[in-house]
Amino acid sequence: MEQTHYYRPTTLEETLHLLATEQASLLAGGVLLVPFIHSQRLNRPAIIDISAIQELRIQVEKDGKLHIGPLCTMTLLANSQNPVLAKACSLVGNLQIRNQATLGGNILSGARYSDVVPALLLLDSSLVFQSLWGSRTVGLASYLAHKDQRIKKAELLVDIIVTPFPPKSPFFITKVARKQAGTKALVTICQIARQEGNRVSDYRLALGSATPLPARLTEVESLLVNPNTRKKGMLELETWLAENLAGKEYKQRAIYTTVERALIDLLGE
Ligand SMILES: Cc1cc2nc3c(=O)[nH]c(=O)nc-3n(C[C@H](O)[C@H](O)[C@H](O)COP(=O)(O)OP(=O)(O)OC[C@H]3O[C@@H](n4cnc5c(N)ncnc54)[C@H](O)[C@@H]3O)c2cc1C
Repeated sequence: MEQTHYYRPTTLEETLHLLATEQASLLAGGVLLVPFIHSQRLNRPAIIDISAIQELRIQVEKDGKLHIGPLCTMTLLANSQNPVLAKACSLVGNLQIRNQATLGGNILSGARYSDVVPALLLLDSSLVFQSLWGSRTVGLASYLAHKDQRIKKAELLVDIIVTPFPPKSPFFITKVARKQAGTKALVTICQIARQEGNRVSDYRLALGSATPLPARLTEVESLLVNPNTRKKGMLELETWLAENLAGKEYKQRAIYTTVERALIDLLGE
């Protein structure tokens, strides 16, 4: 059996050098990777454990944006000041999973069933990747939609940039799952609105575990936000659900009803 090399760098620079020279798997919280290690299913000769890099655990606010280090755990974020993220992270798995699972790991390896990625989509989030040769920033929606934007060899996710809504903006995050704790979502429905007086000036809707990857329904959003086109928006939603979730009537119903109720709460209609 071939030996696996284990590295535990403590700085970003050291990690980027290792990533540039080694064929390595990255280990963050280990929720997904550790079972692979135990069952000897890793197909790379090295592991780079990034958990000791303190600068990847930091959360800072700058120019109205929240910068979140990819090593922040679900537990940490479930107690954070951003209510949307806090709620989404509190829905992940069970306490043991949340204590280990990192935001970076959730986005990069678990996006399909993630409860957090749709919430990040609501907040127009971006990902910053760094390699020895430079850094690039890509919108999360674009990252998910375009394969050529995905993480490249020797890159590390170093920052998740979130654009918070004004404090007290109403939001609704609904996870539909089987009863047992720690099960993945059948569907996660995330909605947020910006209210100006009696008017809703911005409304956003994102779904997780429904489509192959989480997505915002921007066309439906723009119809639902306008009182004159709201009925049309609900019809569009119905059509979208029938086309994209054919045969999954329970998911269609859960999404439609949740959106309808949220709009009643928001608009009192
Ligand atoms: C039993 C169970 C229940 C779960 N329930 C839920 C749930 O309810 N909701 C939900 O959303 N998720 C759920 N998950 C998924 C879980 O949230 C993710 O698996 C977790 O966030 C992965 O993070 P990690 O830090 O442990 O990743 P690791 O296992 O350490 O890493 C996995 C991979 O992520 C990549 N990676 C991680 N960090 C970086 C980085 N900074 N740069 C580049 N690549 C990186 C690497 O490719 C790495 O190999 C569940 C998982 C399990 C096992």
